[in-house]
This record gives sequence, structure tokens and C-alpha cells, in this order.
Amino acid sequence: MTITVPEKVKYILDTLNAHGFESYAVGGCVRDTIMGKEPFDWDITTSALPEKTIEIFEALGCRVIKTGIKHGTVTVLKDHEPFEVTTFRIDGEYTDRRRPDGVSFTASLEEDLKRRDFTINAIVTDCEGNIKDAFGGINDIKRKVIKAIGDPDKRLNEDALRIMRALRFASVLGFQVDPELQKSLRKNKELLRNIAPERINAEFSKLICGENFAWVLLNFTDIIEVFIPEIKVCVGFDQRNIHHIYDVWEHSVKAAEAIPADLILRLTMLFHDIEKPSCFFMGEDHQGHFYGHAKKSAETAEKILRRLRYDNKTVKEVTELIELHDVEIVPEKKPVLRRMGKMGKESFEKLIAVKYADNKAQSPIVLSRRKDFQKIEEIAAEAQWESSCFSLKSLAVNGKDLIDAGFPAGKEIGKILQYLLESVIDGKYENEKETLLRAAENFRKC
Ligand code: ATP
Ligand code: MG
Repeated sequence: MTITVPEKVKYILDTLNAHGFESYAVGGCVRDTIMGKEPFDWDITTSALPEKTIEIFEALGCRVIKTGIKHGTVTVLKDHEPFEVTTFRIDGEYTDRRRPDGVSFTASLEEDLKRRDFTINAIVTDCEGNIKDAFGGINDIKRKVIKAIGDPDKRLNEDALRIMRALRFASVLGFQVDPELQKSLRKNKELLRNIAPERINAEFSKLICGENFAWVLLNFTDIIEVFIPEIKVCVGFDQRNIHHIYDVWEHSVKAAEAIPADLILRLTMLFHDIEKPSCFFMGEDHQGHFYGHAKKSAETAEKILRRLRYDNKTVKEVTELIELHDVEIVPEKKPVLRRMGKMGKESFEKLIAVKYADNKAQSPIVLSRRKDFQKIEEIAAEAQWESSCFSLKSLAVNGKDLIDAGFPAGKEIGKILQYLLESVIDGKYENEKETLLRAAENFRKC
């Protein structure tokens, strides 16, 4: 089998070869190319020591960055495009199960490939596109299987992040997990406690946006529970309500499956009902009810997201959507515009997507509610078309106008603007500057 190597990669490989070193493209780029996908970036592995690589490319006028020189990695910029070039290496002992205590360089490609995680990630190509596949990676790509190189227990003990990487690749590539590796993932799951939350976050975020994420989350729930123990009570929790046919966790995953692969939306759906079990009570109508679960779920989601080091913007967006996921929006012009005005167009559209997805993951008997969401969407679209006033941005006055008109700067300004916006939406005033300044004056007086 041969593959096409991009010109710039070929240049780097050719240059190293011309200086008497072995060099190959390796890892994700080869795997993705074999799968017919466009690789994200091209990583290079070589027998040249990092200092030698720097010397060779600097002499040719290329900029070289000492990215991780201790681990053998430098970044060569070819026509402004970065390529990581790493020396063949053997990882030392992993006493903390996180990072090798030290690495040593080797002249053997085979040694380098042995330290890699999965067979599909240890395929290399030379500058001509000739492939070397020491561990049967191509066959595993064909079989669609993630398989460890060597003894899975040993490999996961060296670096527990590989547990997350296995699940991430299974999700993103749509692959199965080799039975022996599967067993080992479960057996060693507690090792994830040694891994920094930022690194779990990076893998988990890719995982939940992958094509096969629902299968992974439902089949490896026990592993996800290690870093999100809050989902434990949701697993198998019978909602005892005719609107629901799934337990809380299954419903959450199915709802996530019913929404586009966007991090904010997926996180929202996964945690939107997380406090349902704690809010459960059996009503006189013999149905399970969950009053207050939206707000409580938003609070718990915030704890989870902060613990996993999600940024403030993500936390804010996800928790706002969770808190509002159950809010009733009457499919009529005023309530729709008022809600749009409060949330802003983008968040409002996300909320409607959340409502569709939530509904799709409930019992088919409530599917007819989609009609309401469709109506809401129509109203929202029309409102844009009419360029009605539904956000502070489109209001004919802003904070500066109010200050110029003599209103004191500060919190009060925000309140007045919100009042003006709602009044315009309600049709009380025209969205016109003079009118609104007068209305603001009256509002201040009363
Ligand atoms: P992608 O770039 O699509 O996330 P990738 O396979 O290129 O996937 P990287 O994290 O870029 O993943 O790593 C490049 C290569 O380095 C991998 O293909 C694998 O061979 C090796 N590798 C990365 N992380 C590990 C790890 N934790 N243990 C063993 N090998 C690893
Ligand atoms: Mg990569």
C-alpha cells in the first residue's frame, strides 16, 4: 500500500534522508489518510537527534522552534506551516503513571513504534508514501478496532490517559474496542484519578463530539463515572412518567445524540437532567415529577464543568441552557420575542435546539410538541425578517445615549435598557430614539 505524502512533508523527510537519517510521517496523519480523511496535521519521526534536526533546517533557512526538546520534539516551519519532528525514542519508567521519568533516544524505528498507544497509531510512511505497519494497524483500521500495542494492562499502567484516548478514538473514528483492551480499560479505570483534569477534558470534549459517542457513553459508563461520579444515580433511574421511555442517563445520552456535534450543546444535553433523581417525587397522578430539577442540574453541571476545568464562557453558556431547558415558551409573538430579547439570538436558537433534542429523547407520545417549537422558530425567523427589535443591540437607544441625556452611569442604565426593550417588544413604544428617551425619563420618575 502507498499513500500520497504532501509536498512540504516530503521536503522535510527528503532533507533528513539526504543527511543520512531515517525519517517517516507517523501517527494520526497516516491513520487518517488510510481512512480517506484529511489529516489534521503531519507528525514526523526521525533517527536524527533534535539538535541535528535544528542544525539541518536552520542551515536551509527554516525557522525551528524548540517545542519539547527534552522529549525530542522540535517544530520545523516550512513556508510558515509547522511540522513536529520527534527523534525515535524509548520512554523510561512511568512511576507516576502519567509521564515517563525520562526518555532516551534510539536509532531503531521499531523501538519507537513499540511505545505508541494503539496499532492504528503506529503506522508510518516514508517520503515516497511506502507504508510500514509493524503491528497490523492497517488490518485493525479495516476491522475498525482500537487495539493496544503489547499488553494492555502494562500500557495503561504506564499512562492512564490512554484509557481516555481509547474511548476518544472509538467515538471519533466510529471503531469498536478490542475485547482484551476493553477488559483492561475497565480493570484499570481508577488510574484515571492520576490524570490532570485538563488532559481528561481535552479527550472527553473530543469524545462527546465524535460520531460514536453515544455507544461509548452507554457502554463505558463505569469509566466515565470515575471522573463524573454525579451520573451514577442517573444510570438506571426509572422516571416513572408516561412522557419518558428511558432512564435518566439513557435519556441524557439520547438527547445529546439528537443535537448537533457542538461542545456546548452536547455538554448541555448530557447534564440537563442530572439532578432529576434527587428531585424525584411520586405525584397523586401516579407519575414521577421533578420540580426544580433544571436549576439544580445547572448547579451540579457547573461543579462538574469547573472540576474538569472548562472555561468560564463554556460554563456560563451550558448552565444557562440547562437552567432554561424546561422553560415554557408560548408559541406566540410576544413571548418569543421577549425570550429572544432576554437571551440574545444565538443562545435562543441553541435553547430551541435543546428543546427539540430533549423532546426527541422522550416518549413518542410527546413528539407532537415539536409543532410548538416549529412555530417558535417561524416566529423568530419572521421577527428577523421584519427586523423587529428583539435585542439590546437593535434598540434605538444605548447606554451612552442615556448617559448623554443625563442619566447617571451605573447599574440603573442596564435596568432601564431592559425595560425599554421589553416595552418595545410588547408594542408599548415605537423603537425610536426620542420616544424611548422620553419613556426612560418616565420610568425613572416612577
Ligand atoms: P489526532 O491528532 O487526530 O488527535 P493522533 O493519533 O495524531 O490523533 P496525537 O495526540 O497527535 O494523536 O499523537 C500523535 C501520535 O503519538 C499518536 O498517533 C501516537 O502514535 C503517539 N501518542 C500520542 N499520545 C500517546 C500516548 N499517551 N501514549 C502512547 N502514544 C501516544
Ligand atoms: Mg496528531
